[in-house]
Amino acid sequence: MIKALLASAMLVSNIGLGWFDAQFKTYDKMQKDLHELAEPGFVEYKSCELIIKHLEENGFKVERGVANLPTAFVATFGEGEPVLAVLAEYDALPGLSQDTTACFSPRVPGGYGHGCGHNLIGTTAVSAAVGVSKWLAQGHKGTIKLYGCPAEEGGGGKTYMVREGLFDGVDCAISYHPTYQNQILRDTWSSKIGIIFDFEGRTSHAGGAPHLGRSALDGVEAFNMMMNLNREHFHQNSRLHYVITNGGEAPNIVPDKAQVYYYLRHQDPEVAKDILQRTIAAAKGAAMGTGTTVKYSFVAGSYSILCNTHLGRMAQRNLEKVGGVKLTNTEKSYIEELYRNAKLPAPDFSKFEEVKPFQEVISSLGGSSDDTGDVSQVVPLCRVETCLGAIHTWHFSSISGTSIATKAMLNAAKTIFLTFVEIYKNPKELKKIHEEWEAVQGKEYKYECLIGNEPPALEYYRNIAKKVNK
Ligand SMILES: [Zn+2]
Repeated sequence: MIKALLASAMLVSNIGLGWFDAQFKTYDKMQKDLHELAEPGFVEYKSCELIIKHLEENGFKVERGVANLPTAFVATFGEGEPVLAVLAEYDALPGLSQDTTACFSPRVPGGYGHGCGHNLIGTTAVSAAVGVSKWLAQGHKGTIKLYGCPAEEGGGGKTYMVREGLFDGVDCAISYHPTYQNQILRDTWSSKIGIIFDFEGRTSHAGGAPHLGRSALDGVEAFNMMMNLNREHFHQNSRLHYVITNGGEAPNIVPDKAQVYYYLRHQDPEVAKDILQRTIAAAKGAAMGTGTTVKYSFVAGSYSILCNTHLGRMAQRNLEKVGGVKLTNTEKSYIEELYRNAKLPAPDFSKFEEVKPFQEVISSLGGSSDDTGDVSQVVPLCRVETCLGAIHTWHFSSISGTSIATKAMLNAAKTIFLTFVEIYKNPKELKKIHEEWEAVQGKEYKYECLIGNEPPALEYYRNIAKKVNK
């Protein structure tokens, strides 16, 4: 009897996983097409359409342009509860354009590229959602939703989707990101506020009439100086970093306009808010001292990530079942060459092939941020990661468009599929996920957006694009 049950359970999961293997070509092409498109945040029109077309062909109903974001959408398949969700991303990073060869070779010099693998995040979510929809269509009850989330790299599309209440009624969600190892994320990361400061002064001939000028760049430099002194007095694990997105045009023209773009981060959103107030005060002080004025505008603000342990453990079991990527000798040679050209230490292939054990205690080391944090504040969530190497680099742009990446992302899609099937079949699992959720967030939890009612910065990429294209 037990043997028969085990055999039938194996059969169901085999059919599921077999479907993913049979779809390899489809999703290999999708991720490579997205890789080539490599569009900036909030203008990922073609990437978005490519994904929506595939979902509609597979019977999903799609609501476009949600939360006043032209490239955000919600795709739904199935009926009734439970309602499970995956998160797709498709925006690229400035300056990381790259083809898939093992040497530095931008497709468009200085252009956008998938150095964070969001082409894979999009395709993982799509393949997992379509796979689940095929399973639901076999006569199972429940709903699968795919959220098309734009501008993760800086624009924080998910924040506005959460603020709009689009995740109401979702029982739990699983997200995906390619990274350094095969694992379930067990770190809260950081809350983050992205903010642009525009200084304005008075132009003049820098040599002939400097006394008439008031340099906006001086305002930026004085501000940055104050912030660098402040680092010592911010809370432990605070992170702040900036780029000067406009510093003037020529040394002999006193710049009347200058701009600096800041990220302020801390694991605790209250600390991030405190840093924000002190940052605004420093900007005002710098403006006063340099005879300039300053205005600021928010680009994005996102919470640190709440990792649901029960959901994470379920995903871990399934990730272990699926395993890592078995690299061929040709693939190993490619990775070795890529690492050599990027001046990295030799690759550790075991990271690609093995699954890291589950980390029971959630750490809070800070560092990065992700607007998935906002989703995790309102819906129990875990994040599956598969190994591809160091993100936000040209060499990651390269590997993220290869079939090695397709293998890695399909492992994540299979993991999400197996975990969701378990939840659809066993309501007790969802009960445990929700009990843990309520213990952490409290029944009365009410989401408050870190940047209040600020509108989405739909044009934010232009500031960066201007700099990159120069
Ligand atoms: Zn990313």
